[in-house]
Amino acid sequence: MENIQMVDLKNQYKKIKKDIDQAIKEVIDSTQFIKGHQVNEFADNLSKYLGVKHVIPCGNGTDALQIALMSLNLKPSDEIICPAFTFISSAEVIGLLGYRPVLVDVDYNSFNVTKKNIEQAISVKTKAIIPVHLFGQGCEMEEIMKIAQKYDLFVIEDTAQALGSDYTFSNGEKKKLGTIGTIGCTSFFPSKNLGCYGDGGAIMTNDDNLAENIKMISNHGMKEKYHHKVLGVNSRLDSLQAAILNIKLKHLDSYIISRRTAAKIYTDALKDIKGLIVPTEEKCSIHSYHQYTLKVLDDKRDELKQYLNDNNIPAMIYYPVPLHKQEAFLQIARQGNDLSCSEKLSKEVLSLPMHTELTKEQQDFIISKIKEFFNK
Ligand SMILES: *Cc1c(COP(=O)(O)O)cnc(C)c1O
Repeated sequence: MENIQMVDLKNQYKKIKKDIDQAIKEVIDSTQFIKGHQVNEFADNLSKYLGVKHVIPCGNGTDALQIALMSLNLKPSDEIICPAFTFISSAEVIGLLGYRPVLVDVDYNSFNVTKKNIEQAISVKTKAIIPVHLFGQGCEMEEIMKIAQKYDLFVIEDTAQALGSDYTFSNGEKKKLGTIGTIGCTSFFPSKNLGCYGDGGAIMTNDDNLAENIKMISNHGMKEKYHHKVLGVNSRLDSLQAAILNIKLKHLDSYIISRRTAAKIYTDALKDIKGLIVPTEEKCSIHSYHQYTLKVLDDKRDELKQYLNDNNIPAMIYYPVPLHKQEAFLQIARQGNDLSCSEKLSKEVLSLPMHTELTKEQQDFIISKIKEFFNK
């Protein structure tokens, strides 16, 4: 059995090596490292795949969120609602731009923000919501869009962990996550559902004016060369990454199926263990299992993690400290409601190895060690 890894990019690469190597060679031969034709091609391919009008590639997922917020022309001290239990990017860019992050609790089962928690946190200063589709599962977007309409708020979906997942509305209509809100943002960090071989990100929208604005902001605030209308940033997806993504996008659906198959094997084997809660699937979205995250009860999380690590099984804590407990936010964030689920989750969560190349043998070994731990 090969060593178990949290994410196995090597074996994934080996399966598509010929195509990838060829695509990389073409970019190098052309020496069009920036703004090569691969970048626009990828934007077109992704927009077709997602069913969204505009895809604007950029440097990484955090830039995508920052540029999205910059495009909305908000005022200093405007408030933006985001989850307390997540990766830092969303709240970080809110703070960096001088807006106020309002941190709301997530649902214990889904790990995601809810309509109820968002609505409780809305004030007269609230201008936007950033729902994060955590671990690959969609937030209740239909409900969130209704609130956004009621209070006239922008919605920026953080789709960094859920690209490719379908969302189903109550009337049966389906859309891809990241294409439902005002703007969607994603990351192509190597370990994401669709990962490149470096940094990359993209911004999605159906709004023509916003798309124009986003393009301008991501390119130093200029439409016409060397004429700068607004302060922007320099954030680009390079040609090599775009060439790689053009190949990998064709495999995204099968990558998601592999993750879901592996998740089902874990869940079937672990669901009856007392002291563990396996991830649940919400009806409204297809869970793409960017992470397979257990809840370990009775203060046993760190012990189980150590036990797995001692058996050469990696396991990670996403995320050990909720954002309202982070020093960086103590001064600037407002707490939207009681954040007890976020706090509880940060003490209970444990993510198991999850990627497209997990073998049955590896999973059986991981499962046997977890069972062994609880039978000690
Ligand atoms: C990875 C990630 C980001 C940031 O993406 P980068 O490309 O690393 O900047 C933002 N939000 C979430 C939820 C993420 O998982």
